[in-house]
Amino acid sequence: MLQLRPTCEHCNVALPPDSTKARICSYECTFCVDCVESVLSNVCPNCGGGFERRPVRPSKNWKGNNFLGADPASTVVKHRPVDVAQHQSFAASIANIPPEAR
Ligand SMILES: [Zn+2]
Ligand SMILES: [Zn+2]
Repeated sequence: MLQLRPTCEHCNVALPPDSTKARICSYECTFCVDCVESVLSNVCPNCGGGFERRPVRPSKNWKGNNFLGADPASTVVKHRPVDVAQHQSFAASIANIPPEAR
């Protein structure tokens, strides 16, 4: 099951489960859209992959008990700000490759 992490790993802004600003990589590294675009250049600092919008888990029990009430968001904050200069040199050779070709 996808971990709905509570904040952006870089700037620590709150990303509640219904946020439309949450972005994740395939490993569920979680950042806000502002950091993905302005700091990370759509390159995950942990794996080099791209980001997609994090799906919103339904808040109501529409079907089969698959909803936030049964599977709540994570409350474990993972705040590991990136070293911006270091990330820029890491991302420089990757950012121009589309995520699907990395
Ligand atoms: Zn952020
Ligand atoms: Zn990643």
